[in-house]
Amino acid sequence: MSHTHAHTHPHTHGHGHPHTHAHSHAHTHAMPRRQFLTAAVGTAAGLAAGLSHRTSFAAEPNTPESGQAWDILIRGGHVVDPSQGLIGRYDVAIRGGKIAQVAPTIDPAGWREVIDVDGRIVTPGFVDLHAHVYEGVSHYGINADKYCLSRGATTVLDPGSAGAQTFPGFRKYVIEVQATRIRALLNISVTGMLTALRGELEDLEHANVERAIQTIEQNRDLILGVKVRCGRGQSGPNDLVAVQRALEAAEAVRLPIMMHITNTVTPIDQLLALLRRGDLLTHSFRRSGTPESADEGILTSEGILRTSAGEALERGVLFDVGHGQGSFSFDTMEMAMRQGVLPHTISSDVHAYNVGEEGPVYDLATTLSKFLYLGLSLDEAVRRTTATPAAALGWDVQIGTLRVGAEGDVAIFDMLDGEHRFVDSYGGERVGRQRLVPWRTIKGGRTYLPQW
Ligand SMILES: [Zn+2]
Repeated sequence: MSHTHAHTHPHTHGHGHPHTHAHSHAHTHAMPRRQFLTAAVGTAAGLAAGLSHRTSFAAEPNTPESGQAWDILIRGGHVVDPSQGLIGRYDVAIRGGKIAQVAPTIDPAGWREVIDVDGRIVTPGFVDLHAHVYEGVSHYGINADKYCLSRGATTVLDPGSAGAQTFPGFRKYVIEVQATRIRALLNISVTGMLTALRGELEDLEHANVERAIQTIEQNRDLILGVKVRCGRGQSGPNDLVAVQRALEAAEAVRLPIMMHITNTVTPIDQLLALLRRGDLLTHSFRRSGTPESADEGILTSEGILRTSAGEALERGVLFDVGHGQGSFSFDTMEMAMRQGVLPHTISSDVHAYNVGEEGPVYDLATTLSKFLYLGLSLDEAVRRTTATPAAALGWDVQIGTLRVGAEGDVAIFDMLDGEHRFVDSYGGERVGRQRLVPWRTIKGGRTYLPQW
């Protein structure tokens, strides 16, 4: 990976952001000769992994080989790890692709790579519960390594880009190839999200429970639940039956479902009532709370939390953000927060229509920054992009944490102070004081520069 500087930043174009790059130079003290040895060891390890796994591509980034070759010390960061209640200046050491030590100071001698981060924010690699990364097949698909891994999200959950018919390709040509750790929710529609021309559940024959169960059983290592999209453009009038089928499949394999809501045909109260403890509602804070949007989300036309939404929260249903192109409203979020309702998980819903020059999503770090504007502390916000989404996946021992022995996933950010213009999915604007900007991401013993 070439260490070119990442000074240009599409977010700063035309938005009047101060270009605060006082810390923009990498202090990466790599020793050239050892780096050469590392490369040799890495190749040998990759070959060995290739022999013992189904595919060498998948084995190498997903299971870093152990040994000194992968050792990295991150020095002098402001660590925020809500899983352990850690906030403050700590050094973080990675050995064999796992977190080896977190301490106020660690001797810098003998590490392959020492990265001085000069007080930058250091967190566990982010876990984005909503990212569409079936590039080249789903019309939403974008490159995971560019938009997720390189910007701090070491693990992503792709919610339903693939269905039973299209999952094998997702596995083979995307998940096993990308360095980002990708897991998926299987769309209850066999097609997944192929085209904007027709909703994947407009033909109910596509919602095939048997095919879903079979595909999940064959891909238990990658599929962590079932996705169903309810909305006029996705399911038309089939939303209720589709949810029932998603639940039937999920119950058979004992996994959660994630329900997407956008202007549903079936009244939203009826759909929310079906969600169980551990199930996820995504796009939770899409516009609602006004007379015109009363049918679209968790707030009534008077802006009050619906009884059905309150009951879902009490049952243990998780409210996910899933910002996206049309699914996050500052107004709605502020109304919900005034009633004590916060998202459990902050996810981006990055996809092909919201990561370009006009956003408004760009990446998970930007989505998190919007919640700093909304009043969450950095610790509260980072919890919602690390520990809580990891727990939602039943995976919180290995990811979303800097506990010793966990995956060596670390995200390093600049915190830019100033005036930052944030835009929601409806053109709503706010000016925040802080913006978290990816600086380096480490996964599997490798360091990734942000790609814009
Ligand atoms: Zn989505």
